[in-house]
Parts: sequence; structure tokens; C-alpha cells
Amino acid sequence: MGGYQTLVRKQREFFQSGKTREVSFRVEMLEKLKRAIQDNEKEIMDVLKIDLNKSEFEAYSTEIGIVLEEIGFTLKRLRSWMKPKKVRTPITHFGSSSYIYSEPYGVSLIISPWNYPFQLALVPLIGAISAGNTAIIKPSEYTPETSDFMERLIARLYPEEFVSVVQGGVEASQELLNQNIDYIFFTGSVPVGKIVMEAASKNLTPVTLELGGKSPCIVHEDANLKLAAKRIAWGKFTNAGQTCIAPDYVYVHENIRTEFLEEFKKAVHHLYGEEPLKNENYTHIVSEKHFNRLKMFLEDGETFMGGQIDSTTLAMEPTVLTDISWEDPVMKDEIFGPILPVMEYQDLDEVIDGVYQHPHPLALYLFTAEKNIQSEVLSKISFGGGCINDTVYHFVSPYLPFGGVKSSGIGSYHGKGNFDAFSHKKSIVKQTNLFDIPFRYPTMKNGVKRI
Ligand code: NAD
Repeated sequence: MGGYQTLVRKQREFFQSGKTREVSFRVEMLEKLKRAIQDNEKEIMDVLKIDLNKSEFEAYSTEIGIVLEEIGFTLKRLRSWMKPKKVRTPITHFGSSSYIYSEPYGVSLIISPWNYPFQLALVPLIGAISAGNTAIIKPSEYTPETSDFMERLIARLYPEEFVSVVQGGVEASQELLNQNIDYIFFTGSVPVGKIVMEAASKNLTPVTLELGGKSPCIVHEDANLKLAAKRIAWGKFTNAGQTCIAPDYVYVHENIRTEFLEEFKKAVHHLYGEEPLKNENYTHIVSEKHFNRLKMFLEDGETFMGGQIDSTTLAMEPTVLTDISWEDPVMKDEIFGPILPVMEYQDLDEVIDGVYQHPHPLALYLFTAEKNIQSEVLSKISFGGGCINDTVYHFVSPYLPFGGVKSSGIGSYHGKGNFDAFSHKKSIVKQTNLFDIPFRYPTMKNGVKRI
């Protein structure tokens, strides 16, 4: 394991050489990454197909395209983000000026999960490079083809003292966490997030934690049910529900429950056909362990639709469960699979109370045109981010910082937020020597000023 120590030392030396701070270097490295991804698009789709049976459409729209967009957005703005930002100066500081400098942390560690194994490793890397850091990436052991590909790609593009991919499972991850790292960017589950934060606390290393949780979807009485059904079905079953911001469960107003469920069934059939298990483009569950965990939830409540599985391919039909309460096992933790429990409500307060009694969601989706309902939900429930009348789309805007709150995460990234996440903000006052205003100095007893 001495290898990690050596790797971190080499990265620190490289960082201290000052190379990574040069704007031309940052731009060149990002452009290199962009070209390499464009040139290897087919191979990226192939490895994602092997690991998760992702279709080419999903591989591009939810992985490759997102990374390319982030690079393009960053390259256009990087020079302006890097400039020290002049801010206002209070009258008490008369004569001086104030600036915020964005400085890189140094050696960064990026630990990523398996569900979007390509973009969740490489979008943070864009943040690390654009902010002037070196980076060690520890991708997930559950998607070995994609992790192998990234290791080869990065080794071809960059010297290891700048960016390096380290493969391995829990042990490798913990060994890396024990090194003297300057900044940790972790995406994964809540329990592992706590382990990461504990490890970081030993050296007070700053962290960003992108975690998970149960993200509610509220369908109010006045919602446009056709659109709501379509958008929820898409947000839930893309990647077979293995999305951190997928709607975890639905709260539907009792007056529209039946109509909503019918629309939902139609929407799912439209997206994946009447026999999704035969659809070649339907993503599979990542491993047998995850598959078996999900299988147990199929016993909860009543199965409104779906429920069929294929244990040989680890595929599970888009499934809707009704007659569900907070006491059912499926409502205890983040589902992270193609199972959607539906609960009904009469009064919005029931929903607000129900969500409030549980950990802070990473996302929340509300379907209603009523402005007062929108304001009530936004002001009474704390969650990472979300959408009104849609699902998941807030994730793909570079203008919106993405992250959780409390148990769903700490910090945020994407777009300028990505550059900011990997930067320390150094506040500087530049004082004049032309004069000195005496108010701040204590007056000596004999009345003589100290300066
Ligand atoms: P995970 O926490 O099991 O693993 C994430 C990473 O941590 C992997 O690289 C893994 O090797 C490493 N790891 C696992 N156990 C560890 C330990 N004990 N010590 C140190 N490192 C360890 O998560 P996962 O199963 O890969 O991903 C699913 C979870 O990630 C879900 O909870 C999901 O909501 C969350 N997620 C969050 C986001 C987000 O952006 N907020 C995005 C995707 C996934």
C-alpha cells in the first residue's frame, strides 16, 4: 500500500511545481479530455453496455453528453472564473480594495459510485482540473469494464503525478482516505459518506459529499396527469431506477389516484413496451447483491403493475406498488431500483409531515400549477434541489449547483459550482500606504496614539 503514499507524494510535488495553476495548462488538459472522449465514444458505449446494459441512447444522454457539455461550458468561462473577483469594500476600510482569489486545494481525491460510472467520475475531474488541482480517481468496483476503460484513458492522457485512476474496492478506498489528501469529493451512499467524513476529519480535509436518500414525488389534485406520468416514469426508470435523484416514491392526491395510475401505466408501456424484460435497451441491475435486495421489496403492498424479474440477466420490470405505508420495508431506505411505491394523501399537511419526519431528501418533485402549493412545499420542506412539474432536469443545468442537504449531502457542483467546489476562496484586502485612518487603534493612557 506504500504505492498510494508515493502517488500522493508525486502529485503533491507536481502541484507544488505550479504547473497545474497555469491557465494554459488547465485549458490544454480539458481539451485533451474532450477530444479523447469524442474519439472513444463507441468504446465508452460498449463498456457501459457490458457493465449495466445501458442503451447507446442512455449512454450518450446520461453519461458521455453530460461530460462533454461540462467541459464545453467550463472552457468557455474558465478564464473569467479564475480572475480574482473584486468585491465591495466597507467605508471602515477606506483606502483599500477587496478581492476573492480562487486557489486550488492541491491533491484531490474523487471517489465515485457505479450507477453513472463514467460521468460521476469525470465531471468532478473537470472541476479538479479547471480549479488547478491534481486528482486521484477511485471508481467503483461494481462496474469493472468502465473503470478499466477510464484507467487506460487517463493513463494515456496524463502523467500519474497529475491525474491517476486507482482501482479497487473498500480497502483501496479506505487506504486512499488515510493519505494526506487536500480535498475529497465523494459520491455514494449515506453510510459510506459518514465513513469518508470521519476519515477526512483526522486531517480536517475539506469534503464534498454527494449522497442519496428517498426523493419524494408529489402529484397534486390539479396536476397535468399525462405529463406528470410521463415525466415521473422517465425519471424513475431511466437506468432502471439506479439514479440518486430518481423519484423514490409518489404521494398522489386521493381524488386523482386512479387516473394517475392508469396514465402511469400507459407512460411506462410507451417508454419500454408491454414486456420491458424483452426490451434490449432496458438497463439491468448492477449486481446479484443489489438484485436480491430489490427482490424483497416486491412483496410489499399490492403490485399495480410489473413485478416480473429475470434472474439470469438481473433485469426487473418497472414496478408500481400501491397500498404502501411508511412502515413497509420499501419505505425504510433509498430504493435505487425500478420499484415505485405510491401512497395517497388528502391534505398537503400529511405529505409535509411525512417527508419532514424522515431524512432530508436529495431531490423533490412537485406536480401542480398552483403557486401557493408550490411556495408552501418549497418553504416547508428542506431538500437538495428538484423540479416543479418535472423530474431530474435540475441535474443537467450547468447554471444550477447540484447537491444535497444534511444527510443527502454537503456541498454542490456542476458548472461554476464545480470550479468553486474544488477551489478555496481566499479573501484579500489590499490596503493603501498613502494614509492611515487612526480609529482602529486604542489610544494610550497619556493620549499618544500607537502609530
Ligand atoms: P457506495 O457508497 O457503496 O460506494 C461509493 C464508492 O465508495 C465506491 O467507489 C466504493 O468502492 C467506495 N466505498 C464503498 N464502501 C466503502 C467504505 N466502507 N469505505 C470507503 N469507501 C467505500 O455507493 P454505490 O452503491 O456505489 O452508489 C449508490 C449510492 O450513491 C446511492 O446511495 C446513491 O443515491 C448515491 N449516489 C449519489 C449521487 C449524487 O450525486 N448525490 C449520485 C450517484 C449515486
